[in-house]
Amino acid sequence: MKIIVLPGDGIGPETVAVATRVLETVSRRRQLDIVLEHDIAGHASLKQHGATVTPALLEKVKAADGLLLGPMSTYDFKDEAKGEINPSKFFRKSLDLFANIRPARTYSGMPARLGEFDLVVVRENTEGFYADRNIESGGSEMLITPDVAVSLRRITRQCCERIARSAFELAMTRRKHVTLVHKANVLKIGDGMFLDECRKVAQEFPEVQVDDFIVDAMMAHVVRAPQRFDVIVTTNMFGDILSDLTAELSGSLGLGGSLNAGTQYAMGQAAHGSAPDIADQNIANPFSQVISAAMLLNWYGRKTGNSAFGAAANDIFQAVADAIANGEATKDVGGRLGTRETGDALVARLSA
Ligand code: NAD
Repeated sequence: MKIIVLPGDGIGPETVAVATRVLETVSRRRQLDIVLEHDIAGHASLKQHGATVTPALLEKVKAADGLLLGPMSTYDFKDEAKGEINPSKFFRKSLDLFANIRPARTYSGMPARLGEFDLVVVRENTEGFYADRNIESGGSEMLITPDVAVSLRRITRQCCERIARSAFELAMTRRKHVTLVHKANVLKIGDGMFLDECRKVAQEFPEVQVDDFIVDAMMAHVVRAPQRFDVIVTTNMFGDILSDLTAELSGSLGLGGSLNAGTQYAMGQAAHGSAPDIADQNIANPFSQVISAAMLLNWYGRKTGNSAFGAAANDIFQAVADAIANGEATKDVGGRLGTRETGDALVARLSA
């Protein structure tokens, strides 16, 4: 398996370094023959190539089996004409990575303020309110006059149908419960279409229990009782916001791993950003990036039918859980180690 590794900005180089060591370790242990090819994106690429991402990099990624992307300082990238392209958008759109799978669970060894829970947010990734990716050419956000801005939200049956299908298929491997999150009381057409398509797909999965919540009320429900949820499916921006909340409720945004998957390609990428407030201090939690890397292995194992990759992913998930239970983790999750030392301990655990 060849994986392109892009460290990203801010805390990215620190957390991605841990994830790559973990990948090298499980590759040796399970004889997976994982080949890591390191390249650059974000600020480093802007400096070296004049663009945060390049067509040549995309071709490299397309020729590989997976991509591990570090967090990017996307807020800094304002003008595409100057090469300041949002790398997340670039890969999600170019590789049609329509499903953003963002698990959130509690771990023993950490205080679970809201009780134990284990859920997954399945977020549509290619349209919705994301004006930088929802039309073919140009952007769907515009300044009509100096004082009037318009941001368009695109919803299509095709994207609703495929994200719903991802959610129901995932639910069949879990507790068989899907919650639809929407704002159809106000966005009656767009979110009405999302609900229609989800309910059509639901008919193909009669074993799966389905309920739905309006997104604002959902914030209260998920804080009140996160354990009532299994798989939550929603549109792009709602999923982005909700999944940061569920990651933090699980203990820390630094546990927020995620996979961006399409039919052909996949990208492991932490749910959070580049966290400039804690960059270069050896305190960032690397587990979000490690979990994202494990999710990438899992995806590849399912795609190729090679169960050794799924087994390696499970080794990593278990090692993360054991590390947290033993305090071999960063302070945000109650641990006593720095980023690098957390990586050392995890690698030692996976090598034992
Ligand atoms: P952020 O997600 O980077 O950070 C939010 C908070 O969570 C901060 O307090 C940060 O210290 C903490 N945090 C994040 N990751 C952590 C980790 N691994 N361990 C411990 N604590 C962690 O959000 P922000 O500060 O608003 O954004 C910073 C930059 O990241 C911006 O340029 C933004 O556009 C970008 N961003 C990128 C992505 C991405 O690349 N996928 C996602 C979100 C934001």
